Amino acid sequence: MSCRRILFLSLLVWSFPSCSPHKTNVDPVNCPLISHDQKDSFEAPIQEEFPAKVWIDPRFTAEQRRLIVQGFEKWNAFGQEKEHKAFFEIQNASSMVDFASTDPTDCQSMPGSPDSIRVYLENSEERWTSLHLVEKNDDPTKVVSHPAITLRCTVRNDTENLGNLEKQVILINTNYLNKINGKPSGVDQTVSVVTHEVGHSLGLKHSCQAGSNDNGNYISCNNINSNAAHPYRKALMFPSLTSNEVKEDLSTNDKERANCLYRNE
Ligand SMILES: [Zn+2]
Repeated sequence: MSCRRILFLSLLVWSFPSCSPHKTNVDPVNCPLISHDQKDSFEAPIQEEFPAKVWIDPRFTAEQRRLIVQGFEKWNAFGQEKEHKAFFEIQNASSMVDFASTDPTDCQSMPGSPDSIRVYLENSEERWTSLHLVEKNDDPTKVVSHPAITLRCTVRNDTENLGNLEKQVILINTNYLNKINGKPSGVDQTVSVVTHEVGHSLGLKHSCQAGSNDNGNYISCNNINSNAAHPYRKALMFPSLTSNEVKEDLSTNDKERANCLYRNE
């Protein structure tokens, strides 16, 4: 039985200099709930009034849309439990602002606003490859691919900790969903993948750094990959899923980190 783990969930963040800086009111570095080895595991939170608006590409099938909505609702349940308000409100969008013709790495042309998220179906192999989300291998059965990515644009200057989120989109490639090394995974992982990406959209980086050396303030996943009981391994925000793995619910660690970004002052 293969237990090969593949990296398949990603986050890209671009920063650009701020011309009118204002400090964020969150300081996860001082959050008492997390230990030092996750102190660098945050990006800019959504700072606008909740709920943030969510538009879902109408090209997804009704079933895919239903599962995508479930991913957002996992976080809404947490928001309601903690602050009695939902983080997200799904909009009834019959059309989406075009994104396919823009450069996905260009923040200027990205559609969006600080209080909205657009979820796009992006099945173009060319674009997916250009975003480094397909890692080709000599053995075609070993192609490592990522089914989804959250692209975020933040404005930051030197004195700011996390900066300010300007806009963000989630891209999902259904050609790589529910597949491990090109073969069907044993279970439907759509909700697991979307819930993970929504965690990124709230400003959470991975629970540990994938493929990196340890840094005192952000532990490498290499240290915990083989420890199934580790809270960062069990987290939704762990960077990968194995085949047959379903992770649809927030772990204690996911909640603690989200509390650091969205705690009541
Ligand atoms: Zn990820």
